Amino acid sequence: MSVKKRDIRALSKEEIREFFLDLGEQAFRGNQVYEWLWQKSAHRFEEMTNISKETRQLLSEHFIINHVAVDQLQRSSDGTIKNAIRLHDDLLVESVLIPTDTRSTACVSSQVGCSLDCKFCATARLKRMRNLNPDEIYDQVVAIDRQSRLYYDRPLSNIVFMGMGEPLMNYRNVLKAIEKITSPEGLGMSPKRITVSTSGVPKIIKKMADEGVKFNLAVSLHSAIDQKRTEIMPFNAKMPLAALREALQYWYSKTRNRITYEYVVWEGINDKTEDIEALIRFCRFAPSKVNLIEYNPIDEGDFRQAPIAAIDRYKEALEKAGIIVTIRRSRGQDIDAACGQLANKSN
Ligand code: SAH
Repeated sequence: MSVKKRDIRALSKEEIREFFLDLGEQAFRGNQVYEWLWQKSAHRFEEMTNISKETRQLLSEHFIINHVAVDQLQRSSDGTIKNAIRLHDDLLVESVLIPTDTRSTACVSSQVGCSLDCKFCATARLKRMRNLNPDEIYDQVVAIDRQSRLYYDRPLSNIVFMGMGEPLMNYRNVLKAIEKITSPEGLGMSPKRITVSTSGVPKIIKKMADEGVKFNLAVSLHSAIDQKRTEIMPFNAKMPLAALREALQYWYSKTRNRITYEYVVWEGINDKTEDIEALIRFCRFAPSKVNLIEYNPIDEGDFRQAPIAAIDRYKEALEKAGIIVTIRRSRGQDIDAACGQLANKSN
C-alpha cells in the first residue's frame, strides 16, 4: 500500500526541518529544501543539486511538489499578457501582466470563481469553486515575474489582488502568500508595492487593521448610496455602507494609510450629482484617493460606461473636496484581460 503523498509546500520551514531531524539527518537540510521550494521555485526534487540523491529519493517518496502551469498565454496589442493558469486539480484561474513605461504590475487571482455577486463582473458568474492555496497565489506571482523579465527585461514592480475572486473571503491564504512574497526567503518584495482590492468585507478589514498589515487596501465602492450599491453588488444588503465605513475608519485609525476607492461611472446608474455628493460624504473621514476606472463590457447587459463629461464632473467635484482622483484607462480589453472580464472565456 502506498502512502498518500503530501504537498511539501504546505509545510512550514520548521516542519521540513523536523522531517529531516526525524530521519536522523541535520536540520539545515530543511533550510536548503525550503530555499529550493520558494526562492528558486523548483518544480522537481531532482533540481535540488546540493541535496544528496538518496535524500531526494526519500523526499519524492513522501512528498509531491504541486505547481501551477501556464496553460495558455495571450498578448494584447497594448502589451498586456493574460495567462490561463492550470491548477493541480485542472481548474483554471487567470493572471495578468500589465506593463507601463516604468512598471510591471501583476494582477493575480485569489479564488477560482468568486463568492460575491457583483452584477457587472464576469467572474461572479462562475460562482466560487474553491479558494486558492497560498502556494497557488505565490506561483502566479513567480510566473508573471518571469514573464516580465523575459518580455520587458525587468522584474515585477507591483502586485494587485484584482484578478478572480474576493481576497478577503480567502484572507488567511492571501496573507500567507503575501508573507512569502515579501519575505527574503521568497521574493523579497516590499508590501508597499502590493495592493489588496476588496469589494468591502467589514469584519476582515478590521482584522487586517488589528494585525498591522503593511500592504495597501483598495475598496471597490462603485456607489456610496446603499440602495444603488445593493442593486449592483447584492451582498451589500448584508454588509451595508455604514458597516463598511466603520471598518474603514477603524483601518485608518490603526494604519494611517490613505484609502483608495475603485469606482466605475455607469450611465443612468451612478452618474448624477447625488451620486457624487454621496461619494464625497462617504470618503470624508480619511485621506482618500478615488480611482475612476473604465468599464469593461462583459455582455450586452444593462451596464454602459458613462460619457467623458460625467467622469469629468466626478473628477472636478472630488478634487474640489480635496480628494485625489486618478482616471484609469483599461488595459488588455482586446483579449478579455481587463478588470471584471476574467472568466476563463478561452475554455
Ligand atoms: N473582489 C475584489 C477584487 C477583484 S475585482 C474587488 O472587488 O475589489 C477587481 C476590480 O475590478 C474591482 O474594483 C471591481 O469592481 C472591478 N470590476 C469588476 N468588473 C468590472 C468591469 N466589468 N469593468 C471594470 N471594472 C470591473
